[in-house]
Amino acid sequence: TAKADGRNAARIYNPASARARDVTENIAALLKIAIEKELATLVYQPIQDVRTGRIGSVEALMRLQMLDGSDIPPSLFIPVAERTGRIIELGNWAIRKACSDLLATNRVNTVSINVSPIQLKAPGFAASVASILADTGVNGKRLAFEITEGHDLDIHSDVLRCITDLHTLGIAIWLDDFGTGFAGLSWLRLIDFDLVKIDRSFLHASDTAEGYMMLQNIVRLLRDHGADILIEGIETPEQLELVRRLGISQAQGFHIGRPASVQQMKASLTAIKDAAAPAPRRTRASR
Ligand code: C2E
Ligand code: MG
Ligand code: MG
Ligand code: MG
Repeated sequence: TAKADGRNAARIYNPASARARDVTENIAALLKIAIEKELATLVYQPIQDVRTGRIGSVEALMRLQMLDGSDIPPSLFIPVAERTGRIIELGNWAIRKACSDLLATNRVNTVSINVSPIQLKAPGFAASVASILADTGVNGKRLAFEITEGHDLDIHSDVLRCITDLHTLGIAIWLDDFGTGFAGLSWLRLIDFDLVKIDRSFLHASDTAEGYMMLQNIVRLLRDHGADILIEGIETPEQLELVRRLGISQAQGFHIGRPASVQQMKASLTAIKDAAAPAPRRTRASR
């Protein structure tokens, strides 16, 4: 029958995967022109110091606009950028943009930027970061780079050297989405992370006794390790209270603030008096 033929044809042409291929190709084409056509932008989400209530830093999150003005989420375009190598160019653009926004808004001490393992492995990455700092006049102490645990990054000597070079520039190195991969614990042994972001899934599971205990244990482990702790995904006042009770110092989430444009950030946060003198980065020896 025609129906059976249709099914066979579907099996042969596999329209679902053909569509997925189209989407990937469209994104790849878009990424090629993203910087030139100003389709890539950064939005900023506040990070609150739980003890003082102050917004000391913001996280830069990338957005990609399609030609019709609608947004493609990073979960779709970052993997394509990584596969095609565009992430190098795009990543450097993001660091430069975050630096100039930081200076132009004068609202927060530090900005954290998500960095792909592809960037850390690329030769000359730390050198290009150094020249961005020199060009923009931003002190490296005002930047943090977030590395996501889920990524398969085999930590060989080149990556470790790159991280050391970034630390030498004053840049803090944060571990993102802690607990979502299998690598987290071994990464903690290998890399001198300045701060660890506990994945929001642990917070959201903490309404059961078992989930709460697990979160407590993770916090204890990280505290013993000596890293600063941030928890992601604060969506309610109750969750912020829980974070306070657990003694976690930094918090981020929709309840504290949603990602917003640099103009919105400028309007919602008050100017800081002396942006050029942030608190010194805590070294392992001092904590
Ligand atoms: P991430 O770095 O863990 O960023 C946090 C994500 O959680 C963001 O999604 C943010 O909008 C979302 N989020 C923040 N607060 C809440 C909350 O309270 N509840 C919930 N449900 N979600 C919350 P977004 O912007 O879609 O980014 C997704 C991921 O894409 C990021 O996860 C990061 O891994 C990656 N990404 C974003 N921008 C960049 C970039 O410039 N470079 C690279 N390499 N990766 C990026
Ligand atoms: Mg992040
Ligand atoms: Mg995260
Ligand atoms: Mg994430």
